[in-house]
Amino acid sequence: MKEITCRLLVIGAGPGGYVCAVRAGQLGIDTVIVEAGRPGGACLNVGCIPSKALIHAADEYTRAVHLSAGKSRLGITAAKPSLELAKTMAWKDGIVGRLTNGVVALLKKAQVKYVQGRARFLDGKTVEVDTEMGRQVIRAEVIVIATGSTPVELADLPFGGRVISSTEALALKEVPKKLVVVGAGYIGLELGTAFAKLGASVTIVEALSRILPLYDAELVRPVEKRLDTLGVRIITGARVKGLAKADAVAITSTDGKSSTLAADKILVTVGRKPMTDGFGLDAIDLDMDGRAIRVDDKCRTSMRGIYAIGDVTGEPMLAHRASAQGVMVAELVAGEKRAFDRVAIPGVCFTDPEIVSVGLSPEAAKAAGIDVKTGIFPLSANGRAMTLEREDGFVRVVARADNHLVVGIQAVGANLSEMSAAFALALEMGARLEDIAATVHAHPTQSEGFMEAAQRALGAAIHI
Ligand code: FAD
Ligand code: NAD
Repeated sequence: MKEITCRLLVIGAGPGGYVCAVRAGQLGIDTVIVEAGRPGGACLNVGCIPSKALIHAADEYTRAVHLSAGKSRLGITAAKPSLELAKTMAWKDGIVGRLTNGVVALLKKAQVKYVQGRARFLDGKTVEVDTEMGRQVIRAEVIVIATGSTPVELADLPFGGRVISSTEALALKEVPKKLVVVGAGYIGLELGTAFAKLGASVTIVEALSRILPLYDAELVRPVEKRLDTLGVRIITGARVKGLAKADAVAITSTDGKSSTLAADKILVTVGRKPMTDGFGLDAIDLDMDGRAIRVDDKCRTSMRGIYAIGDVTGEPMLAHRASAQGVMVAELVAGEKRAFDRVAIPGVCFTDPEIVSVGLSPEAAKAAGIDVKTGIFPLSANGRAMTLEREDGFVRVVARADNHLVVGIQAVGANLSEMSAAFALALEMGARLEDIAATVHAHPTQSEGFMEAAQRALGAAIHI
């Protein structure tokens, strides 16, 4: 048995854990990171990156199909395209490989020791890891739990065979002919749309009364329209009861009606749960928030010297939140004064069109008792959107009625994810409507819609 000691031990090398470890290394903290699977965690291996690669491939393919069908108004025609999903997946795996190798290199450069294996708590300062070379005991002054999350499994539809999670969906070698997606949240809609574009007949079953319940109805409407154009069938207010026969699932609607849906693959995307099992957390008995580890604004758990970051601490389960928490914890361990007091954590749903949301929606602001002024600018009045043939969507700015402080910005439109940075910056910098309205935005860009939404809230939009 080998034993090592260090100042900081990070468990899990996802975007929470590896970023925390790299920052700690940069700050001169003697750091060890333990990873049971592959460096980069869910995000790099089976989440953010591979899903966006597949979405891009699906967009390329749809464009080619559109041109070959003679539907383009641009005077461009093309030959009928073909698709080899296995090659698409190999390309995607290449990107994942480059990034995960990059994580190992970054850890090395920051002089972080990487240990491959599953960590198990022995007590609040000690973990053991079964490595290829035998049992390793690691003692640390400070431990950061960054073990992430795993897909939620439905009791009536356990994973296996035709019932798959996003992980298996991102490794398919053939496009399913009939795909049933259970859950119309982030993953269900991102991957459901991609597979529809790649040629699958897709049906999405959602328990609640509408898709993407996380976002307000106005924001989701352009996405619903596009799904309709793509031929995606949406069934809301329904749950899947289980497998009906070899090639079908049984569903039941809230009004009690039962039916079956043909499916050669059933993708279950009903949420993710914090990874808190199987590594001896019970040995240290931390306070929990449901299934998530409870943390304060410094990501401290109920036990001194133990922090938790990322998905294991619950919603919002987003890579950039995990990384921001990771940086903060490393700096706290280095003795700096920090707190996780961000005004905004942007949410982006990579649907078609993309949805971006930062801060409060008009409804959420009203519910919080804030009297608001709202400005909406439709992309149909934006020149750049016209040149891109994507006029569906809008930018919406929500500000306090009294002093015009911006409290929320939302947008829906093709490729608007990149605008999330401007939106988050505006909120973090405490921008008022006048600040955005008076900032010169380059022409022609979709971002002019942001400026015009603020101008419109002030009654001064030019193009509408
Ligand atoms: P993880 O990335 O889950 O990493 C945790 C790591 O800990 C894993 O590598 C695991 O193997 C390791 N581990 C667990 N237990 C142990 C143990 N006992 N010992 C050692 N190691 C252990 N988020 C976005 O912001 N944008 C997106 O576009 C996006 N797309 C997504 C698409 C999909 C299909 C999925 C599934 C998720 C997506 N997410 C997205 C969410 C994002 O992946 C997570 O929020 C993010 O990965 C959380 O980072 P983390 O470091 O907390 O955990
Ligand atoms: P989700 O929470 O986004 O959506 C789950 C959906 O399933 C909800 O609409 C819910 O009402 C529905 N549902 C729950 N039980 C159901 C049932 N029995 N039958 C039918 N519908 C049911 O979860 P997800 O899509 O699995 O994603 C998990 C997490 O991963 C997200 O919360 C998000 O934090 C993260 N993620 C983020 C991105 C991004 O940032 N672009 C992309 C993918 C995933």
